[in-house]
Amino acid sequence: MLWLRRDLRLADHPALCAAAEAGIVIPVFIRDAQVEAMGAAAKWRLGLSLADLSQALAARGSRLILRSGPPAEVLQTLAAEVGAQDVHWARLYDGASVERDTRVKETLRDAGLSVISHPGHVLHEPWTVQTGSGGYYKVFTPYWKNVREVAVPQPLPVPQIDAPANWPEGETLDDWALGAAMRRGAEVVAQHVNVGEKAAMARLDRFLQDGIEDYATDRNRPDRDGTSRLSEHFTLGEIGIRTVWHAALRPGTGAETFRKELAWRDFAWHLVYHTPHIEDRNWREEWRDFAWREDSDDAERWRRAMTGEPIVDAGLREMYVTGYMHNRVRMIVASYLTKHLLTDWQVGLAWFEDCLIDHDPASNAMGWQWAAGSGPDASPFFRIFNPETQAEKFDPDGRYRRRWLNPETSPDAAAYFRAIPDSWGMSPDDPYPDRMIGLKEGRQRALDAYETYKEGA
Ligand code: FAD
Repeated sequence: MLWLRRDLRLADHPALCAAAEAGIVIPVFIRDAQVEAMGAAAKWRLGLSLADLSQALAARGSRLILRSGPPAEVLQTLAAEVGAQDVHWARLYDGASVERDTRVKETLRDAGLSVISHPGHVLHEPWTVQTGSGGYYKVFTPYWKNVREVAVPQPLPVPQIDAPANWPEGETLDDWALGAAMRRGAEVVAQHVNVGEKAAMARLDRFLQDGIEDYATDRNRPDRDGTSRLSEHFTLGEIGIRTVWHAALRPGTGAETFRKELAWRDFAWHLVYHTPHIEDRNWREEWRDFAWREDSDDAERWRRAMTGEPIVDAGLREMYVTGYMHNRVRMIVASYLTKHLLTDWQVGLAWFEDCLIDHDPASNAMGWQWAAGSGPDASPFFRIFNPETQAEKFDPDGRYRRRWLNPETSPDAAAYFRAIPDSWGMSPDDPYPDRMIGLKEGRQRALDAYETYKEGA
């Protein structure tokens, strides 16, 4: 049996290859508590991915079996039904997954099943990269120096997938209604998704042809199509990270910078594995008494993309309409919430978790704690992004801002008002709001809070 989780693909899949080698493969996806807890957009996007994978398996004479419940029970029952001896899966490294998988492994082994877990979700598993003294890395630059030349295993081809004579029963995606929480937003975001393994490979090919050469400069420009847009595929494992790494092993600063970003993703998993509290507590213990503001009307205006700060609102609207936000803008909106609005980074993290189709527990936590200043290798608290200067530098002609803020001229900006809930009572005819806080004033308030906190610490 093969328990699929964040590895919804057929190529470059060590667990699938091992299961196929061992005999008949029963691929199963389980709607467990972790799936139930996913944010609205990511859960909806998962449903699309499962539908695509079902088709890809069917085209090879196989099937994707869907079941709900606690994984240990589901796997045990299924193994008994089909007479399976072993269960394969690809390892995950966040606290909740490690805890769940350890329990599942113990239960299945006690029941006499053989459990084999495999690599494949990252380039280098978190415990394989060590500092000179045998610890884990807290800073990216030395981490990168360590891994940049380390060989990454070659991606594996799709194996022959043997089917059982009789398939066990499964549930249906319609019954699961994974998109329920998206409500009318689904129709809008659906215009922007790129679903499944084939689409992911096509996107990679396009990036290798048109994007990678200028990636080092264009990656910071939200007004250009300068990044790979592979994140929605990585988070569900629709494309293998080893495939992408090997494809990017080519000369040039663009390719080198791109490989470095792939290593940032690994670094996030490295951190979340070694310090799982990064997901829900200030990574630096000493930040626990910092006077963050809790959720508030100000944070609600930020969520609704009505702060009056154009680059911030543009980014938040981009996320609501597409399920994606450019990395440069993620940093700006996160800095604005945590510094200018002095709001706890967990408020922003939760909103991203709900809205992003590429939500990834490790990169999201690392990104927010980096922006807030509470994480490892974080931007220092006193380094406060000025959204206006950032916008002038990275969106110099205002193209990105117009695209997301001008409903009369831009269909993408108009789509925002079709996606948001009626209950927000917002219309494209409303005037664009004034700034909720002056940039100097917000910056000073953050610096003062930091000074007070340092004095008290
Ligand atoms: P590209 O620029 O083409 O980069 C290629 C790949 O490298 C990405 O797909 C991603 O896997 C990895 N990568 C690039 N930048 C980073 C980074 N800063 N940190 C970690 N990995 C990186 N990324 C997510 O995948 N999911 C999240 O939930 C997420 N939340 C974030 C929250 C904040 C506050 C910040 C500042 C960043 C967050 N990121 C997150 C990282 C980054 O913004 C996205 O990975 C990137 O924008 C995805 O676009 P792309 O695939 O075109 O990236």
